[in-house]
Amino acid sequence: MGKKLAAGNWKMNGTSADLAEVSALIAAHPAPACDILICPPATLLSRLSDTAQGSAVQTGGQDCHANASGAHTGDIAAAMLADAGASHVILGHSERRTDHNETDAEVAAKTLAAHGAGLIAVVCIGETEAQRDAGDTLAVIGAQLDGSLPQGCTAANTVIAYEPVWAIGTGRVPSLDQITEVHDFIRARLNDRFAGQDFSLLYGGSVKPDNAAQIFAVGNVDGALVGGASLKAADFSAIISALDAA
Ligand code: PEP
Repeated sequence: MGKKLAAGNWKMNGTSADLAEVSALIAAHPAPACDILICPPATLLSRLSDTAQGSAVQTGGQDCHANASGAHTGDIAAAMLADAGASHVILGHSERRTDHNETDAEVAAKTLAAHGAGLIAVVCIGETEAQRDAGDTLAVIGAQLDGSLPQGCTAANTVIAYEPVWAIGTGRVPSLDQITEVHDFIRARLNDRFAGQDFSLLYGGSVKPDNAAQIFAVGNVDGALVGGASLKAADFSAIISALDAA
């Protein structure tokens, strides 16, 4: 595991036909300088992991349950993701916080479960537009960081993704100064609590081939969590190349 990571979140997109995009991506990046991660829907995880076997592409889930097993219809345990070939799991994405009312405490419990199964947790935080407009961005980010990260987080088992909710899937991106402010704040907050751990900090929210290089030039940005632009090999490949060059 390096520090630089290009992570793709396919959300509720992708069927067998899309495995060809992964094959194309693998062919385009035989020896990248950064780590590459694709988090497909659970139905594709096992096959995508098989496709990526022996390549530079790692795979991850998009959520896991906090419990190891039991009566939780429709949910997936962290160990099941690992069994399907995952190395990572995205936790606390804003769409899950909104659609499933996930709280910071639940995200922290899921993060612990992920660590227990040997997975790297990609923990997402981010302010809404209303919170930013109210001047509450750093307070919100600080509270989410404190509440969503359990004790025991290390740079080896946890990645942080800053994703302003208003930038996800909208084509709107914060200014580079706004990204700098939040990433510097996150770095300092993590240093206070987890001294000596050099976490990877990803930016997420409408990262595209034409803005990736500028974003990767920002201090304390170690990569990206990419939604829409991770679905097509050509777009994600351009973002990976920008991160490799950063
Ligand atoms: C995401 O899903 O985490 C995301 C950042 O989406 P998009 O890149 O489409 O804004």
